[in-house]
Amino acid sequence: MTTLRPHYYDLFKCIADRCAHSCCKGWEIDIDEDSMGRYEQYPDIRCHIKDSGFVLQGEDERCPFLNKTGLCDLILKYGEDILCDICTDHPRFRNYIGDTEYLGIGMCCEAACDLILNDTAPFALLPSGEVLFGIDKVDAYKGNISEYIKQLYPEDCGCKDRTAFYLTLECLDPKWDELLKSLSDDPVTQDTRNAYIDSNSRAFRNLLKYFLYRHMGHRGFAAESVRLIAESAVRSGHDLSDICRMYSAEIEYSDENAILIKQRVST
Ligand code: SF4
Repeated sequence: MTTLRPHYYDLFKCIADRCAHSCCKGWEIDIDEDSMGRYEQYPDIRCHIKDSGFVLQGEDERCPFLNKTGLCDLILKYGEDILCDICTDHPRFRNYIGDTEYLGIGMCCEAACDLILNDTAPFALLPSGEVLFGIDKVDAYKGNISEYIKQLYPEDCGCKDRTAFYLTLECLDPKWDELLKSLSDDPVTQDTRNAYIDSNSRAFRNLLKYFLYRHMGHRGFAAESVRLIAESAVRSGHDLSDICRMYSAEIEYSDENAILIKQRVST
């Protein structure tokens, strides 16, 4: 098996106690079988597990090992090797084509999100340097990135219809639902959205490349995702990275949501 990774992959580092949206809060943590077996020898860990997951605590649904300073007590006590697969892997993802494994880091993590949005290098997969899914064309395009998105996927149903569709999807965070409703009440025009995209062109170029890579060249998914993210950022006034993080958590971490969007748009 060959394993490839984006050029920025090795730069990722969890910012732990400096993370405002820790993945150790509000997410179910399913423990893999091997780790479950290992944890049987650790009564102080085993007592916090129910139905193959850590029992989350408090209103913010914290992992029982996330301490008050934002660090992981398991790592502090036993070292990183104690972690189960999901804690070791997050926010990394894997795709497979034939006997090649494509690694990446997902934007639901704010550190990964900042790394991806602010990247300045052309996209390349290491160690071979190959580029897939037409991502090199995004880097080579000299015009406005909003125009490139239009060429990539000309069908643009408009903010109102797009938002109405996203409102039918499974909602994981009520804040996301609120944001979509505000967009539905006051849709963003294409001109306003495109002006926003072009005034943040590096971030949107990187965003488009990220979606094309993660969703294996699915142009419709990439273009529609980028459009909704831009419209949400305009309407809410939130940081672009915050919207990207929320979008990834809502859509990319729900297989059902991602599939429904892909069914709605063509490749
Ligand atoms: S979301 Fe990312 S930066 Fe934050 S705690 Fe998790 S892995 Fe670390």
